[in-house]
Amino acid sequence: MHFADFHRRSIAEPESFWAEQARLIDWHKPFEKVCDYSRPPFVHWFVGGQTNLCHNAVDRHLKTQPDANALIWVSTEVDKEIVYSFRDLHAEVQRMAAILLELGVGQGDRVLIYMPMIAEACFAMLACARIGAIHSVVFGGFASHSLASRIDNARPKVIVSADAGSRGGKSVPYKGLLDEAIQLAQHKPAKVLMVDRGLAAFTPVAGRDEAYAALRAKHMDAQVPCTWVDSTHPSYTLYTSGTTGVPKGVQRDTGGYAVALASSMKHVFLGNAGEAYFSTSDIGWVVGHSYIIYGPLIAGMATIMYEGLPIRPDAGIWWHLVEKYKVTSMFSAPTAVRVLKKQDPAFLKKHDLSSLRALFLAGEPLDEPTAQWIAEGLGRPIIDNYWQTETGWPILALCNGIESQPSKFGSPGKAVYGYDVRLVNENSGEEVTAPGEKGVVMVQGPLPPGCMQTVWGDDERFVKTYWTKAGDRWLYSTFDWGVRDADGYYFILGRTDDVINVAGHRLGTREIEESISSHPNIAEVAVVGVADQLKGQVAMAFAIPKDATGLDDPAARLKLEGDIMKVVDGQLGAVARPARVLFVTALPKTRSGKLLRRALQAVAEGRDPGDLTTIEDPSALQQVKDLVAAK
Ligand code: AMP
Repeated sequence: MHFADFHRRSIAEPESFWAEQARLIDWHKPFEKVCDYSRPPFVHWFVGGQTNLCHNAVDRHLKTQPDANALIWVSTEVDKEIVYSFRDLHAEVQRMAAILLELGVGQGDRVLIYMPMIAEACFAMLACARIGAIHSVVFGGFASHSLASRIDNARPKVIVSADAGSRGGKSVPYKGLLDEAIQLAQHKPAKVLMVDRGLAAFTPVAGRDEAYAALRAKHMDAQVPCTWVDSTHPSYTLYTSGTTGVPKGVQRDTGGYAVALASSMKHVFLGNAGEAYFSTSDIGWVVGHSYIIYGPLIAGMATIMYEGLPIRPDAGIWWHLVEKYKVTSMFSAPTAVRVLKKQDPAFLKKHDLSSLRALFLAGEPLDEPTAQWIAEGLGRPIIDNYWQTETGWPILALCNGIESQPSKFGSPGKAVYGYDVRLVNENSGEEVTAPGEKGVVMVQGPLPPGCMQTVWGDDERFVKTYWTKAGDRWLYSTFDWGVRDADGYYFILGRTDDVINVAGHRLGTREIEESISSHPNIAEVAVVGVADQLKGQVAMAFAIPKDATGLDDPAARLKLEGDIMKVVDGQLGAVARPARVLFVTALPKTRSGKLLRRALQAVAEGRDPGDLTTIEDPSALQQVKDLVAAK
């Protein structure tokens, strides 16, 4: 079949198209209506249908392949490898589900998961899905303030956590940060379920903290049937940053998500039951949700969950795993590849990679040298794809499972089926159609199955943040600039808002500014994303000290910079730590007091800042220029 026809049908006849895709999963009760778009921009998929994500990821494979590998947990941090068959996974998930039930979790209750990359995190996610609870995984790299704001927004009944993670052989304690976060938060969870890995000592809070090992031992023979939920029942929330305010809880449904994942595993990621999939992401990010846990398992594949660095014990570890488990599809991010690029390329050639159909990369722009280096090194196709936490699965990709299409360097491919992608001129609001013309990447509603339903607890914010009404059409904004060429391939040109992308991690510059401002000696600060060879972008802060006495001394500046970084580490986590904090006496602003962010970013990157007619004090930019030049 031609992809163009497939895509056309998905937009012109969404009902029959998605009804067909919906056959890829099990339904407990068939749906009555494929798509309810009677209250745009909200959309409900597979209305009246009942299903369960955990049933589709685990139970249904028990009939056909109970002994096939399901979860392969590999940790080069603690030097352990455990392979769970679907039968084993089924048992573990039921134990975890029984524990959550005992702790009082019911359908619709939230469970916050703050965990390193351990198998228990996977059990916890699936156990929530099993009993109709809504999980909210918070990335382990986030610290107490970030965690507290998410606790307050999600209001979890139970938090599942662990004593520590491990990175590069060093233990990274979680429990202390969690206790601090719970103290900071207004909302208090009833229970905290603690997995003790023996990596960091901790004192359990009496009456609140429960030991996973003890409760698991009690529920060894647990049998907890799946709770059938409506297709539209929220399966999880996942927080992501935007320009303003606290991070938004992206809310996902159940049926639409399961169908979108099952379909994308087949058409985009070329996966089949009985094969192995390896995504190097983290469960704290959307890729981890869709393509470590749910997608591969729904497809009946073994999924590798890897705790460790890509270069330890050596830079061949990933390829060793590909060879050992005969991985057919792999998913990673450009930054990780750039890390490997600094290592001996011989590692790419040491292992038999003949099982691997393709390496998929996403999360940030894929630069041509990186793509070329890894394509040549592996001798395998490299397939870029573009999407967001909000969409849950690719917006732009090559659907080679439908029709094999050539890659173009620098392009994540064409609009994926189900997505009616448009480019819109930011100022006029008019659609741009000429090849090569720049516009904001938008998707005409309804969004396809699998995308966000709303912002958790805030329908108004969902509509206001993402949607524009154009006549009787609704357009969803990705907040990315893009262009399309004559063949329908898109090229992504960066964010239109104040979000930056550091090593594939999405961060809001405003959150970092707020954190830095809490330092007692900072009067004002601006954070911008600056191009970086390894991480794609890094955060750079320009701060005005309240008291600059003694700051002509480089040692004093370095000390203040270090103190500020510690504040960010402690509040938001090391992921949000700016690469540099430089001190200035003024920030570039318009006469009406608006920060000239794009000009600041341009200068920080050594580019021409463009039109500066509105600037109040040109010397403010000059200072930045001098600082950057002196770096
Ligand atoms: P996240 O929600 O963390 O997945 O971040 C989504 C953002 O990452 C997008 O809005 C883009 O700015 C960027 N992004 C993701 N994938 C790609 C890609 N393949 N090429 C360019 N930018 C990407």
